[in-house]
Amino acid sequence: MSVSAVVPAAVARPSRTLVCVPATARAPREMAAELGAAAALGADVAELRLDCLAGFAPRRDLPVLLAEPRPLPALVTYRPKWEGGEYEGEDEPRFEALLLAMELGAEYVDIELKVVDKFMKLVSGKKPENCKLIVSSHNFENTPSAEELGNLVAQIQATGADIVKIATTATEIVDVARMFQILVHCQVPIIGLVMNDRGFISRILCPKYGGYLTFGSLEKGKKSAPAQPTAADLINLYNIRQIGPDTKVFGIIGKPVGHSKSPILHNEAFRSVGFNAVYVPFLVDDLVQFLSTYSSLDFAGFSCTIPHKEAAVRCCDEVDPIARDIGAVNTIVRRPDGKLVGYNTDYVGAISAIEDGIRASQPTDPTTSPLAGRLFVVIGAGGAGKALAYGAKEKGARVVIANRTFARAQELANLIAGPALTLAELENYHPEEGMILANTTAIGMHPNVNETPLSKQALKSYAVVFDAVYTPKETRLLREAAECGATVVSGLEMFIRQAMGQFEHFTGMPAPDRLMRDIVLTRT
Ligand code: NAP
Repeated sequence: MSVSAVVPAAVARPSRTLVCVPATARAPREMAAELGAAAALGADVAELRLDCLAGFAPRRDLPVLLAEPRPLPALVTYRPKWEGGEYEGEDEPRFEALLLAMELGAEYVDIELKVVDKFMKLVSGKKPENCKLIVSSHNFENTPSAEELGNLVAQIQATGADIVKIATTATEIVDVARMFQILVHCQVPIIGLVMNDRGFISRILCPKYGGYLTFGSLEKGKKSAPAQPTAADLINLYNIRQIGPDTKVFGIIGKPVGHSKSPILHNEAFRSVGFNAVYVPFLVDDLVQFLSTYSSLDFAGFSCTIPHKEAAVRCCDEVDPIARDIGAVNTIVRRPDGKLVGYNTDYVGAISAIEDGIRASQPTDPTTSPLAGRLFVVIGAGGAGKALAYGAKEKGARVVIANRTFARAQELANLIAGPALTLAELENYHPEEGMILANTTAIGMHPNVNETPLSKQALKSYAVVFDAVYTPKETRLLREAAECGATVVSGLEMFIRQAMGQFEHFTGMPAPDRLMRDIVLTRT
């Protein structure tokens, strides 16, 4: 397998990257309708995948598919099985169909590198001026070395291709950096994409590196290649029209990461303040390798989630002292000198949410934290538990830890110099009035919405109850705490605030509070 290469500097190209929607219907009229649907989405090109048509008859069906006026320029592909398509017949009829498509005015025709010589003999000067020939190579195993990819580009260029297309497969996200190098250095128009989840960023960031075209499906589940985004997401979520060489790249590093709502939140927030940046999911196996590959100033900041929050502490050049104590970094910012600085906005988000919840419900001294001097019980001793415990202690609270695994409760309690309890002891724990409770376990999280970490009877001892769980928005714990008269603070508030903290670290601007709240409450 090839070695990873550092991501290159971006490059400006005269034309913008086109968004192409594959049309994969089984019937010609449906496929023709897909062109109209793709145009309505704002795509630039539609790829007619002739190999998807059932009982395709070129002389009967191509005039329907390529009838003028067409809603979009057509890229005609008739992919054989041996190159990942569905066509199982001989090459000659396939070539004849592609030639006919050229004659009928197709703007692009795609032919595989493996058979391009044979195809060119048949075409022999019959290719119309306005038809561009894409010569393509697909690798469903891996992404070769930069040198091998360079040789492949040269080989395709030598065939007389108007456009080079290379699609490879990512086994790791760092493979994509080699494709970006190829895009940057190619002297002819090139489509360079890396398939599967680990190659996803190639589909979003290719405009930054001068890629000619990227594919987006008509709708979810209709993709023609692994991990292809929808055209709507390319255009509306990732703002692909605005991505250029100067666009800064941010994203969430995790594994898994595909479910994350952070791209929706941050891309829209960036757009609202006119910040030239895109936020993508990074599916990362090895954090050290990822950070040393995507090391240019263009990769300006990262959110970190499971399982990389702890490793992120070691990967940063500087770490905020409380984040270091907690042992978890959820935000990394690249300074202009290239150094990585780590923060933990989880604890800031949770603690400020609890403070503001208390301030809103009772008169408090504005000069000190309303947590100062209060007894603050944390249930859980994992990542969120540590964040809450250190954050509360920092504000002057007296922190108590209760956890299912008592040894872990003791370990965290020792670190913050407080007592540890078992969950059974917590049921009858009532040393004083006005206590604050923070649940940081997943108890009560969807789908186990009937579970709760503490009985309603025990909840009567608390004045304030916070739950880190935010699916559902109102957990059983919060509902019962409210019924007992406590001030309740939702985990959703923590989620919104940790994201706002990240936005401020990333952009240096105040977060668009109302917008981010609206997105979290209505779209995530
Ligand atoms: P974690 O590191 O895996 O820690 C999980 C903690 O929950 C441990 O203390 C564990 O106890 C305890 N626990 C798990 N299942 C339990 C059960 N059935 N009964 C009793 N205790 C149980 O997880 P984390 O990252 O801290 O996340 C914990 C929760 O916080 C999750 O629900 C997560 O979604 C939420 N969270 C919310 C936000 C937000 O923005 N609102 C941010 C971060 C996390 P043991 O030590 O005994 O295993």
